[in-house]
Amino acid sequence: MQKIRLATIWLDGCSGCHMSILDMDERLLEIAPFLDVVYSPYVDTKEFPKDVDLTIVEGALSTDHDIKMIKKIRENSKLILALGDCAITGNISAMKNLFGSDEVLKKGYLDLANLNKSGKYPSKIVPKLLDKVIPLHEAVKVDFFLPGCPTPADAIYEVIKSLIEGREINIHQLTRFGK
Ligand code: SF4
Repeated sequence: MQKIRLATIWLDGCSGCHMSILDMDERLLEIAPFLDVVYSPYVDTKEFPKDVDLTIVEGALSTDHDIKMIKKIRENSKLILALGDCAITGNISAMKNLFGSDEVLKKGYLDLANLNKSGKYPSKIVPKLLDKVIPLHEAVKVDFFLPGCPTPADAIYEVIKSLIEGREINIHQLTRFGK
């Protein structure tokens, strides 16, 4: 058994895949002594750290900030796990590709707005949308893909447990959960 430095990040997803991590329930207590959670929505760390063993990434890449973050994550993580269909294919997050960023911004900030009388989209504080939402592997090398919407907690447990135990991931354990 070995202790691993774990990061998780929520990019353009709905948080459902992070809820699945919590759905490991009492097994979280079993694996907690072997996890050093160094960056995550679950902890209060502002900067992505160096020397992370595993980063679990939920969500697709939709903004210039997402691209900056995934590159930083790649530079500082030994392994990246794409968690869920948004991270792997774009999924729900990529539905806006049918219309394009301008059309989506217009609908959200102008057509349906009650308070925005400026006739402009927000350009400060919020990150700039990419023209097209893309999955993680189109921007960086991804080591593991764990599909599902959301990914089943049992599958997440098998991956983390195998890394802690320093053994191969049992693929049969993963596919079993899709049935
Ligand atoms: S894969 Fe499904 S559950 Fe996970 S972030 Fe995307 S929409 Fe949410």
